[in-house]
Amino acid sequence: MGLVLTEAKEFSNTVPVLIVGAGACGTIAALAANERGAEVLILERDAKPTGSTSLSGGQIPAAGTKLQRAAGLLDDTPELLYQDILAKSHGECDHEIARLIAYEAGKTIEWLVDRYRLPVSCVLDFQYPGHSRPHMHASPSRHGAELLTVLLAAVEAEGIPIATSALVTDLYADASGRILGVRVKRPDGKVEEIGCDALILACNGFGGSKAMLAKHIPEAAELFYEGHTGNQGDAIAWGEALGASIKDLGSFQGHGAVCSPHGMHLGWAHVTEGGFHVNKEGRRFSNENAGYSEQALKVHRQPGNVAWAIWDERCEKIANQQHSHVQANESGAIRKFDSVEAMAKAIGCDAAVLKNTIETVARKEKDAFGRDFSTKPALKPPYLMSKIMGALTHTQGGLEINKETRVLRKDGTPFPNLFAGGGAARGLSGPADWGYLSGSGLLMATNTGRLAGEAAAKLVKAS
Ligand SMILES: Cc1cc2nc3c(=O)[nH]c(=O)nc-3n(C[C@H](O)[C@H](O)[C@H](O)COP(=O)(O)OP(=O)(O)OC[C@H]3O[C@@H](n4cnc5c(N)ncnc54)[C@H](O)[C@@H]3O)c2cc1C
Repeated sequence: MGLVLTEAKEFSNTVPVLIVGAGACGTIAALAANERGAEVLILERDAKPTGSTSLSGGQIPAAGTKLQRAAGLLDDTPELLYQDILAKSHGECDHEIARLIAYEAGKTIEWLVDRYRLPVSCVLDFQYPGHSRPHMHASPSRHGAELLTVLLAAVEAEGIPIATSALVTDLYADASGRILGVRVKRPDGKVEEIGCDALILACNGFGGSKAMLAKHIPEAAELFYEGHTGNQGDAIAWGEALGASIKDLGSFQGHGAVCSPHGMHLGWAHVTEGGFHVNKEGRRFSNENAGYSEQALKVHRQPGNVAWAIWDERCEKIANQQHSHVQANESGAIRKFDSVEAMAKAIGCDAAVLKNTIETVARKEKDAFGRDFSTKPALKPPYLMSKIMGALTHTQGGLEINKETRVLRKDGTPFPNLFAGGGAARGLSGPADWGYLSGSGLLMATNTGRLAGEAAAKLVKAS
């Protein structure tokens, strides 16, 4: 991935708004720019767009929406969502961007539902850690593939072209940092050059690049990666070459309950509803409910880098609404046990230790790890159990953007015509793994996608 600096360049084909990446961010940016009358082209490296958006749980936070009001939830507000983002990131994210995104989220969801029939409804039967209200809006089977399919269909229906199998390798820019165009490599080795008036980087982070992980988040490089392998950190490489401000490269979203070795994650309701994790000695080791992101390394640091999740049928009813959990069941990763002894045998631990762990949790006393078990019923046999590992879901560091999603230089001034969103931009999580508020990934991708599309269209229409 490179940068070609040149004062002038002739392109045989120029498109006003070029977008790199056909995930949630790229497709939504395209729809927004197209609505404002800008001609758009999306460039996607894969033959069929299947970025992290399509692998995701399809759950998007938004607050104060008409969907929530129709479902009877009347007291959620953008300010509450904003405060939740700040609290989870310990105030270490960009407050201005967090506030903007929290306040724009309702508008984005309503626009996508009303205009493009995005199939989402409110998740009211459980609440993720750090959500002061049930902010989530989710696709029917809680699977991002449903959302991306609808977004891609909308792009097609609007007549917006997507060039697939089109890996963007290089940017052409002049000395002021104005992007003149891009170089694209095709699978057969052919190279194309396309000029643009504005460029939107919607090509996510660097979760798929072991080399970048080893450099920026060495511990996460050891984790199982459950995101899209095509996310190779290209936006960050171009940003570095351009002298862009890049922040929070050590930040990532993990997942602390990915079935081992199956590779799909359990619905987090298995924890929020009262389940917990034990290591191979049958002992708990963390406050599982602090968040699924930070739980990834806590699980990874256990003997053998594994743990066991234990929950019951009441938790299972809610967890099993999520596509990945259904897949875990279908793959045999979840087993049912009538007795503690049978579970202990499966783990290979002392049954008395595991029994003591389960009884201690059931007593709902002050928890050694700071978790409050008093709000949920104690688990009842039969128990459900799965061997789990910690996973890396996606990276959270990226290009610093302003409120128009324009990429900033190190001195804080914006590049003339470069925009970024979704996982290519700095996330809302602060510097580490503990700052990820559930749903921040699609929250960023959907909202920065709309804002980038609007701003890029405004720029090219004005020029
Ligand atoms: C298993 C899993 C579950 C998740 N669940 C949730 C959830 O429920 N809620 C939530 O908010 N977030 C969730 N996330 C995170 C969420 O999926 C991402 O934050 C979000 O999809 C990012 O969207 P994006 O458009 O930035 O990136 P993507 O959807 O990954 O799209 C980026 C696209 O860019 C393409 N690309 C990359 N480089 C190039 C290049 N050089 N040239 C051309 N194309 C390129 C890629 O092929 C890809 O199609 C989950 C993630 C995973 C992996």
